[in-house]
Amino acid sequence: MEPNAELYLRIGAALGIFAAMALWEFVAPRRALSVGRLRRWPGNLGILVLDALLVRFLIPVAAAGTAAIAAQRGWGFLNITPWPAWLEILLGFVVLDLAVYAQHVVFHKVPWLWRLHRMHHADLDIDVSTGLRFHPIEIILSMLIKVAVVVLVGAPMVAVVAFEVVLNATSMFNHSNAAMPGWLDRRVRLVVVTPDMHRVHHSVKRHETDSNYGFNLPWWDRLFRTYRALPEAGHDDMTIGLPIFRDPKESRLDRLVTQPFRNAADVAPQPDGGNRTR
Ligand SMILES: [Zn+2]
Ligand SMILES: [Zn+2]
Repeated sequence: MEPNAELYLRIGAALGIFAAMALWEFVAPRRALSVGRLRRWPGNLGILVLDALLVRFLIPVAAAGTAAIAAQRGWGFLNITPWPAWLEILLGFVVLDLAVYAQHVVFHKVPWLWRLHRMHHADLDIDVSTGLRFHPIEIILSMLIKVAVVVLVGAPMVAVVAFEVVLNATSMFNHSNAAMPGWLDRRVRLVVVTPDMHRVHHSVKRHETDSNYGFNLPWWDRLFRTYRALPEAGHDDMTIGLPIFRDPKESRLDRLVTQPFRNAADVAPQPDGGNRTR
């Protein structure tokens, strides 16, 4: 794929979906926001810019570039076996999605990885900007994991670019605060993770946080029994975020960057007397 065309596709799709979801959640919000956009968006979008710059600088070849190199040199399962191109693209896409699911589970279970990932969960509201809010170190690790998966699988470059564009879009969609009628949600969540499905994952209750790990295809959670249809408190009354980092000041960019290296106790007392801080 021509590099400029790829870049325009990525930026165009990202801006288009962001604008569409921001408009949808503005016109038809699912829940009332507790902190709102004004205090959260500068940090959430600031961290996105930081992430993009860091990846570009530290891993310029990225996953798509790795796929091109792997194809040239015959690296990876799909490059040493003769498959039809469409099947290679489909397999590459599905395997990458499974890898992202598995990685997400691991980032919840391994304490030092959870410290990085919990910044995503510390957002006190969930909306389109939350889907872009990941700690820079988590983003770098994710890219390295993706590069390793691409080399092992030999995923075609088209599959990698398609996967990254689609994942970015579905992440903005399923983090959005867009209202969707129940009948539509039930149908859509058979093929892609919906906002009502992913919101359960942002519940303050740990057993709900540890469910619905999928960002794109919704099947892994059902297959590996991590699926939860609804939050116990209901979508309107559930609390979003973590028991720690509940001070709205934690939405600032500098606080987002330092959260993995702090415990909430350093910043604000915990009204519920603790909970998980690791
Ligand atoms: Zn998570
Ligand atoms: Zn999320």
